[in-house]
Parts: sequence; structure tokens; C-alpha cells
Amino acid sequence: MGNASKPRILIVYTGGTIGMIENPATGALENFDFESFRRYMPELQQAGCDFDVLAFDPPIDSSDMEPRHWVSIARTICEHYEQFDGFVVLHGTDTMAYTASALSFMLENLSKPVIVTGSQLPIGKLRTDGKENLLTSLEIAAARDEAGRPRVPEVCIYFDSRLMRGNRTTKVSTDGFDAFSSYNYPSLARAGVDIHYRSDLIRRPAPGLQLTPHYALDTRIVIVTLFPGLRADYMRRLLDVEGLRAVILQTYGAGNAPQLPWLVEMLRELGQRGVLVVNLSQCKHGGVVMDRYETGLQLLQAGVSGGYDSTIECTVTKLMVLFGDGYDARQVRQRMCCSLAGEISVAGEN
Ligand code: ASP
Repeated sequence: MGNASKPRILIVYTGGTIGMIENPATGALENFDFESFRRYMPELQQAGCDFDVLAFDPPIDSSDMEPRHWVSIARTICEHYEQFDGFVVLHGTDTMAYTASALSFMLENLSKPVIVTGSQLPIGKLRTDGKENLLTSLEIAAARDEAGRPRVPEVCIYFDSRLMRGNRTTKVSTDGFDAFSSYNYPSLARAGVDIHYRSDLIRRPAPGLQLTPHYALDTRIVIVTLFPGLRADYMRRLLDVEGLRAVILQTYGAGNAPQLPWLVEMLRELGQRGVLVVNLSQCKHGGVVMDRYETGLQLLQAGVSGGYDSTIECTVTKLMVLFGDGYDARQVRQRMCCSLAGEISVAGEN
């Protein structure tokens, strides 16, 4: 791999469009292995870092990503944590925001960069966005500040010239190169001729804390999206889950719901059964303020917990990790109101 003094980066190749090629018979995109990937990208040899690659076998479309795959990625990072200065996870875009969010909670006290990236066009296409995304991700993963510390010791998504906190991102475009947005937190860096880092926005772990992985994930979570005409029988069936842990209620505006007595009663009953209900707005910008309108206040009074300005991807994965840790609904509720990895805007935290 060359010069030993260069930063060492581990690329974890999971699959996604970046490493796909068109099947001539069907026209559909299919995965190929990392060796073929190298052929399409000789520029990798000139990257300013040494890198090794560990690849999923077979690589997968990220729509097939499951919590057990997040565990594989997190384990790979933890097992190689000391040997490498940073990590780049190559991943499909469809569920990239879920994986980045999950990793941000699974890798507690992370002090090295984990940059998740991919592309909208395969690496073999002339106009691919994959080359820039990968090369700049490697550069960011290898970057150090004046004190020699990693510049971005966080789980991030790098896409289309912007570095975003992973647990703040959402996929917003099926075909634009600007496929991801971070609505409620500014970009951590912008890549142009130079890469401009916003050090004031980047989280730094408290010194001396050990990386603590969280591998247990509890998936007994249901998402209910409100819409005008929502029926009680439909909702009842949705919530009929053995051992249900949490319900994410996707509400209107600042966290409002129709004033339906059956709905409020159902939510109250869930709380009594020890099921945590989290109120998340269907709006992408801004967060939940349940006491602004009567339609929100009724939820607060029924024991519903506010989801702040969190993304759905972040809320799902945070709940899975916290319930996986063995906390009960009351303990999880307390932690949902705190920023664990910069995922919600609460006073005094970034
Ligand atoms: N279906 C692909 C995936 O998520 C899409 C992409 O990578 O852009 O793996």
C-alpha cells in the first residue's frame, strides 16, 4: 500500500449504485465486487492516504440493508479501530441515512471519522458522481486539524460537495446528485477548490472516553403516519404487535393530530401498556412543539413524547439502540429528550 506515514483509511464496501453495472440482458443495475471497482477507478492509487478494503460478500443494494448489516459495519469498524485513522463506508443511497444514523448511536464515544458515501450513477459511467464522492470522503476521513486530531470525529454522510452529520440527513432526490439534505443542522464542511470545515459545528468526544459499541437492536417499533381519514380499525391493527416497544406518530405541522377521542384514548392506553409514543412532524424543517396548539396539547396530555427536530431515520434507529440496550420506556423517554450524538437541537449542545 506504499508510504507508511500516510493516514490509513479502511473502506467498508457494502454495495449500492456506486458499485453496480448494467445487466445487458435485463437493463437492471446489479452489484459487482471491489476488484472490478478498482479497475474503473485507477485514481484511487493517487489518493493521499493508504487504504485497505473490506467488502460485503456479496455486496448489497441498500434496500436490502437490515439492522444485522449495521451490526456488521459497526463490528468491522470496532475490530479495526486501532489500526486505522478513519473509515469510509460505501453504501447505497436508499437507506444510507438509516445506516449513518444507526452507526452514530452504535459507536458511542467515536473519536475517528466514519464517512458514509455512495453515488447516484455507477462508478463505470462517464458522468458518475461516485469518483468525487469517494475521493473527497477519503480526504475528509484522513484530514487532521492543527493539533493533529481527526478533523471530523463523527459519523457523517458526504454527498455532492457537502459533509453532513449522518443522523441529521434524509434522502431527498431519486435522481439529483444532491441526493441528501440536512434540514435542521448546517453542513459540517463544503468541498470546492478547498474543503472548508465548520469546526464550530463539529462534535468532539470528551477526552479519554473509550469507544463503546452497542450491538443489540430492538426492532419492535411501528411508524404511524397521520392522514385525514385515518381509521380506528386500521390503527388498531397496526399497533397489534407482540411486545411492541415504541410507536413513532408522524403528525402534522408542529406536532398536531386530529381531535379524535378514539385516537387520544388509544395513545393513552399505549402509554399505560409501557409503549413509548414519540411525536415526529411530517414537516422536514423545524421540530415538534406540542403545546402550541390544542391539537398538539391533547397528545402531550395523553403522555406522548416530543421528537424535537429529529429525522425519521434518526428516531427509528435511536429507539432501536436504546431499547436494545435494555432500557424501559421511561428511561428511553428521558434519553429521547437528550442529544446523544448531535441528533436533535437542544440548548447548549451541537
Ligand atoms: N438502490 C440503490 C441502493 O440504495 C440506490 C443507490 O445506491 O443510489 O443500493
